[in-house]
Amino acid sequence: MRCPFCGNTDTQVKDSRPSDDQLVIRRRRFCPECVSRFTTYERIQLSDLIVIKKNGDRIPFDRDKLSKSITTATRKKRNVDSEKVEKVINGVVRRLEMLRQPRDLFKKKLEKWF
Ligand SMILES: [Zn+2]
Repeated sequence: MRCPFCGNTDTQVKDSRPSDDQLVIRRRRFCPECVSRFTTYERIQLSDLIVIKKNGDRIPFDRDKLSKSITTATRKKRNVDSEKVEKVINGVVRRLEMLRQPRDLFKKKLEKWF
């Protein structure tokens, strides 16, 4: 990571800390060249994730769309609040990351995760 103050590319990571939902990593960095400190945030680039649909279409992963699908899929179930939906979405994102090559997401699969 290049130092924003002097342009030195050889900066050091002093501390890494994930956010509560583990989706953002905060890193404290130090530049030995100009003795500056700065912070970077590393987050998942969701638009890089591709969902392959049943008919073979490839569409970019859309968190809002997933949220709507889950809400629709669980409409008839009780005790499903928005907080739980959020948790499931975070879980889905994590699974997608682990898969590296995301498979298609079916309603049935989503329902099982509750
Ligand atoms: Zn520097």
